[in-house]
Amino acid sequence: MIVHKTAKQLLTKASGFLEGYTHTLNPYTGCAFACSYCYVRQMPVALFRDEAWGSFVDVKENAAALLAKELNRALSKGPVTIFMSSATDPYQPAEYTERITRSLLEVMSANPPDFVFVQTRSPLVTRDADLLELLGDRVRVSITVETDREDVRRAFSPSAPPIPARLKALRELRARGIPVQATIAPVLPSSEQFAERLSGIVERVCIDDYFMGDGSGGRRTERIGVRGIYDALGLPDWYSRDAYKRVHEQLLRHFPQEQVFVSQRGFLP
Ligand code: SF4
Repeated sequence: MIVHKTAKQLLTKASGFLEGYTHTLNPYTGCAFACSYCYVRQMPVALFRDEAWGSFVDVKENAAALLAKELNRALSKGPVTIFMSSATDPYQPAEYTERITRSLLEVMSANPPDFVFVQTRSPLVTRDADLLELLGDRVRVSITVETDREDVRRAFSPSAPPIPARLKALRELRARGIPVQATIAPVLPSSEQFAERLSGIVERVCIDDYFMGDGSGGRRTERIGVRGIYDALGLPDWYSRDAYKRVHEQLLRHFPQEQVFVSQRGFLP
């Protein structure tokens, strides 16, 4: 269910995993992509709601006006580095018509922060290439590509965009000179050709898993019950602390070492 709300605050002080940033920025509350492994399910924003994670989306309809004000204030105090978004996908389906994320990029391209990291799973981000171009090297677009196997993607996140569409989006943005990264997070079971496929599309990759990246050493993910999906797929060995190494080794065969980032380092400004 999509509800329009008036937000009181937009820029939030960053902490923890995102401590390299001064602020996080969430255009929406909730996320219709509803990924099974989403650790936001275990955070107050989801726990204190009656509706299930994935079934509600609050649109922060006054977001642009609020950001214009807050960004000005923050920039007057020092450097501003923004992670968009930490608890939603800024390009989830509601964005096609609501255009909140686009309005935020309009504000940021007119009054640029020092850096903004755009994190999404959606090819809709290409719609805003004109604004991303204006941000030059102050922006990086990170598109999540957890696997190159569509059967695996469908098992873990059936409502999220198909992998080929995400790869196409990475290709398009890169062709326009916008800094991009393919983010394998959380690393899901993939084919032996995964790294090679990515190497033809992007120059920079980041890999992360539940144990390094869910903010609790994997405990949140265990509570969510994702392990059952691996079992159902007959791929239980991919649910382990070492599973990422298989893909990491592949990546190092196809990318220069300095372009392969592990966990938090890949998300830093
Ligand atoms: S796209 Fe991101 S925020 Fe949305 S459900 Fe998936 S992991 Fe969670």
